[in-house]
Amino acid sequence: MLPCDRCKGQAGRPGHLPPHPDLEKAPDLSPREGATAHAYQCRKCGHMLVLQSPGRDMPDFWVLGDGAFPA
Ligand SMILES: [Zn+2]
Repeated sequence: MLPCDRCKGQAGRPGHLPPHPDLEKAPDLSPREGATAHAYQCRKCGHMLVLQSPGRDMPDFWVLGDGAFPA
């Protein structure tokens, strides 16, 4: 299933953008030390959006995925 328009619109955006209304908080991922990943799942399309930060001093941003986390 394809991500809905709201999910597509959220992906790639800076982390200060709040999650869209169909996103529900999912358990956080713990990719690695120093990185954060707050996971949300969309009620509408079932896709996962992850608010992730590549490192301590890097700005966070939204990534569209299904639980996969880039190494
Ligand atoms: Zn969606």
